[in-house]
Amino acid sequence: MRVAVIGAGVAGLVAGHRLAQAGHVAEVYERWPGLGGQAATLPVGEGHLLERYYHHLFTSDRHIAALYEELGMPDELEWRPSNVAFFVDGRSWPFNGPLDLLRFGPLSVVSRLRMGLAVLVLQRRHRDVRPFENETAREWVLRAMGRQAWEKVWGPLLQGKFGDRAADISMAWLWSKLTVRRQIKGDEARQELLGYPRGSWETLYERLQQSIESRGGRVLIDRPARRLSHSGGRFVVEPGAPDSFRIGHDPRRFPAAEPPETYDAVIATVPNDIFARLLDDGLAGAVGSEYLGRLQTIEYHTALCLLLELDRRFTPFYWTNIADAALPFVGLIEHTNFIEPERYGGRRFLYVANYLEAGHEMLALDPEQLLDLYEPGLRKVNPAFARSWVRQRWLFREPAAQPIVTLGYRERMPPLQTGVPGLILANTTQIYPEDRGTNYSVRLADQAVGALLKG
Ligand SMILES: Cc1cc2nc3c(=O)[nH]c(=O)nc-3n(C[C@H](O)[C@H](O)[C@H](O)COP(=O)(O)OP(=O)(O)OC[C@H]3O[C@@H](n4cnc5c(N)ncnc54)[C@H](O)[C@@H]3O)c2cc1C
Repeated sequence: MRVAVIGAGVAGLVAGHRLAQAGHVAEVYERWPGLGGQAATLPVGEGHLLERYYHHLFTSDRHIAALYEELGMPDELEWRPSNVAFFVDGRSWPFNGPLDLLRFGPLSVVSRLRMGLAVLVLQRRHRDVRPFENETAREWVLRAMGRQAWEKVWGPLLQGKFGDRAADISMAWLWSKLTVRRQIKGDEARQELLGYPRGSWETLYERLQQSIESRGGRVLIDRPARRLSHSGGRFVVEPGAPDSFRIGHDPRRFPAAEPPETYDAVIATVPNDIFARLLDDGLAGAVGSEYLGRLQTIEYHTALCLLLELDRRFTPFYWTNIADAALPFVGLIEHTNFIEPERYGGRRFLYVANYLEAGHEMLALDPEQLLDLYEPGLRKVNPAFARSWVRQRWLFREPAAQPIVTLGYRERMPPLQTGVPGLILANTTQIYPEDRGTNYSVRLADQAVGALLKG
C-alpha cells in the first residue's frame, strides 16, 4: 500500500516506520519545518538542541524505551534522579518521597498521613480505572485525602493545568498520574529516576526518518496537508505550499501546492479540529456526523511555554509545581538541574510553564510582555532574580497540548477507525486513561497501523 501519514510528531513517525517495516510505502506530511511535533527541538546555539517544551520519560514508559532498543540505540536513554518541589505558602518544599511528605509544612500532620495513605491504597489496591471514571478528582481528593489536601495541593495544581475546568476533571486522569506513571519500586521509592536522551529527542526522529526513507517512503517537512478527499476507494492528499505554517494551524487557509497525491490509505495524527477541517465535504459525509460530533466534544488547553537561558541557577530543583494561584504560571522546569549544564557548554535553561484555555489573553503576549507579567512571580520563588539573568528567551504556544478529561470521557473518545475503510485517526485524545506523552504516542502508532492493516 501507499499510505499518507499526516503529521511527523512521534505518532506519525512511528506509524511511518511500522508501515515501512510491514512492506508499505509511507509518505509523511508535516506542517512544521522540522520533526517531532509537540516534542520537537530547537537549536539553542553552539550546536545544542533542546525541546521547545520540557520533556522527560518515566521508568514506566516502556513502549518508547523498547523503540530505542529496537532502533539500535539502547544507550541513548539515560536515567537520572529527579528533584521535585512544590511552591506553596511562599516557599518551595522538596517533594521527592515519603520523607518529604512527612515534612511537608503546608499540610497538618494528619493531612500528610492521609494523603500518603490514600496514594498508597490507590497504587496497591486499584489497578482498574473504571471505578474512577464517574467521579471527579476533586470529589475523590476531598473524600480520600481531605479538604486541606485539595486546597493546598491538588486544587491549585489542577487549577493551574485546567483553569476553570479543574473541578470537572475526571478522577480517571488523576488515577493514571498517581498509579500508571509512578510505578516506583525499590530504590526509586526514595528518589525517582527520569529518562532523557543523550542527544535530545531529535536522534529518535532522525532514526525513524531513515527507516521510512530507506524503505522507499518520504518524510516531507514544511509540507502540510491542506485537504483530504476520496474517490473510488482511494484518498487524495492536497499539500499546502511551503511556509504555510506561518499562516497558523487551519489547513483551509494554506495556499495549495502541486501536485495532489493519491494513496490507498491515510493515518492522520493531527488534533481533532485539524482533522475535521482537512476533510472535504464528500469525505466528511462519509465519516459521518456521529464521529465528527465526538471530535467536537473534546476540548484542549493550550500550552504556553517560555524558555529562558539564564546566566545562573534559578532553583535547586528540576521541577517546581506552583501550587499558589497568585503566581501567573504553573510550573518551573529547570532543565539544567536534570541534565548538567556542561552538556550545553555551561549554559542554563529554565522553562516557565503554563496551560490556558483557547483565546486566553495571555496567549497574545510577546516574550517581553510575558516576562513582565511573570517577573514578580519569578521573584517570589527566587527573590534575587533579576531580568539581567536572562540571556535568551523563546516563546512557544501549542493549541492542542492537553485534552481535557472530564466525566464519561471513554464514551466520547473517537475510535481509531473513522468508519471510512483506510482512514485512521490517531492523536492524543485517544490516549486514555494514561494521558498524552511520547511513550503513549509510540503505542498509539502501533495501534493505528494495526487497525489499518486489520482493515
Ligand atoms: C508542554 C508540554 C510538555 C510535555 N512534556 C512531556 C514529557 O515530559 N514527556 C513526554 O513523554 N511527553 C510530554 N509531552 C507530550 C508529548 O509531547 C506529546 O504527547 C507527543 O509528542 C504527541 O505526539 P503526537 O505525534 O501524537 O502529536 P503531535 O506531536 O501533536 O504531532 C502532530 C503533528 O501534526 C502536524 N500537523 C498539524 N497540522 C498538520 C497538517 N495540516 N499537515 C501536516 N501536519 C500537520 C503538527 O505540526 C505535528 O508535528 C508534553 C507536551 C507538552 C505540550
